[in-house]
Amino acid sequence: MKSIWSKSVKLEKREELADDLRVQNVVIGAGIAGILIAYLLQEKGQEVIVLEAREVASGQTKNTTAKITSQHGLIYHDMINTCGIERAKGYARANETAIQLYREIITKEGIDCQFEQLPSFLYSTKEVETKRLKQEAHAARMLGIKATYKEGEEITELPFEVAGAVRFDDQAQFHPLMFICELAKKLTIYEHTKVIEVDDYMVITDRHVIVADNIIFATHYPFPILPGYYFLRQHQSRSYALALEGEGVPKRLKGMYFSIDKDGLSFRHTKGELIIGGSTHRTGKYGAKKITEHGIDKTGFSHLEQKVKNCYKKADIIAKWAAQDCMPHDKIPFIGKFSMRMEHWYVATGFQKWGMTSAMVSAMIISDCITGKENSYAKVFSPQRFLLKAGIKDFMLDVGESVWGLTKGVFAPKEKCCGHMGCALVWNEDEDTWDCPCHGSRYTAEGEIVDGPAQEDKIR
Ligand SMILES: Cc1cc2nc3c(=O)[nH]c(=O)nc-3n(C[C@H](O)[C@H](O)[C@H](O)COP(=O)(O)OP(=O)(O)OC[C@H]3O[C@@H](n4cnc5c(N)ncnc54)[C@H](O)[C@@H]3O)c2cc1C
Repeated sequence: MKSIWSKSVKLEKREELADDLRVQNVVIGAGIAGILIAYLLQEKGQEVIVLEAREVASGQTKNTTAKITSQHGLIYHDMINTCGIERAKGYARANETAIQLYREIITKEGIDCQFEQLPSFLYSTKEVETKRLKQEAHAARMLGIKATYKEGEEITELPFEVAGAVRFDDQAQFHPLMFICELAKKLTIYEHTKVIEVDDYMVITDRHVIVADNIIFATHYPFPILPGYYFLRQHQSRSYALALEGEGVPKRLKGMYFSIDKDGLSFRHTKGELIIGGSTHRTGKYGAKKITEHGIDKTGFSHLEQKVKNCYKKADIIAKWAAQDCMPHDKIPFIGKFSMRMEHWYVATGFQKWGMTSAMVSAMIISDCITGKENSYAKVFSPQRFLLKAGIKDFMLDVGESVWGLTKGVFAPKEKCCGHMGCALVWNEDEDTWDCPCHGSRYTAEGEIVDGPAQEDKIR
């Protein structure tokens, strides 16, 4: 199930690492985060190599929907209340700066990647939600974002009625692989070079050892269990996307759309196709099958397809794909020092399905930190923060999920268990994989690793 991006761009192959090395900086992982971090480090005069276990952009990045926006759902009103106005301002400005930096890099490098400036809309179909949308527009304006509230009648291009929406101006969308393809050409990247262990200044791959001054984990979910305790600080959530064309399907939209409703849909166009996303759920949590008027309704693709067919009856689905992302409890990514104990380790994770701007923010913060430049956003995203008020509910839910998964893994010997921490796995019928509800690792039916944090092809 290839995304519309993977179907249209083939990235240049890179050699495996063939020797031991001594370098200034090693970035582990060549997704959007790893590529941007390496690029900005190199631009600031640093020597940097990227190690990738598979191929460039072969992780979640190839399956994104690639909206470049500071509109990350309904966040700003809550963030002001739970984290304070200064942190919320920092979050908003960092993400707005990230959009601007995309524009600058694309212009400077002359990258043709279908980059398009568009407004972004956060909408609801429910009248009862308009109050929260108005609050969000007000909160975003307080933080310096060009935000306005729009009445439902003003949103006319979606295939259903909308109750209200928040519009952010000067946002963007692009083709992520066309962008990465060009940027990657400037970098030293080793593909099929999997990092097995990191020990202080040593990065140990399946064949070689690299000694580096700084080590950056851009592996989507950081794989070391200790230090950092990232397995206790976030879970993974999966969403699905379809690309459509055909009679009645708009080829262009005037904006990008994201719903705040439970089971709502997101929309954007590409060059001629419409992408619709939705069916979000915690990885490994596949609710009981329900019989609906459309037949058996499962989470994932079939559910989304049913919804989409209700909107565009004659649509042809030309591509479908899924991806997942890390969801931190306090809804702020972890960007910066990996842990207090490891001064020279850095991390970029917890992008909560907004990895395009979050990856750029990671590149800004980490490259400044390494080159000794103060970064005014570093404190906002610091992995060493502790925001109890913002994260306690999700923390308790995640602990409960992990305790349940681990207990099942230990006391039910027939269960398939994850190689990461031993939690019981769940069969995902839509994608034919074994998925972990605790931390989100996924395996093929044969036990080959698909998504981390687990690193080995090992189901117990
Ligand atoms: C359905 C969906 C839609 C989305 N749409 C949007 C959107 O519209 N806008 C937006 O901003 N964000 C969006 N996101 C989020 C965004 O796609 C992700 O946050 C982003 O792609 C994550 O990038 P990454 O570089 O952190 O991870 P990845 O792309 O997964 O890259 C990590 C890389 O690390 C490598 N790796 C792992 N372990 C090792 C190891 N031991 N050694 C070497 N390499 C290793 C992997 O192979 C992989 O290539 C969406 C997410 C989902 C789920």
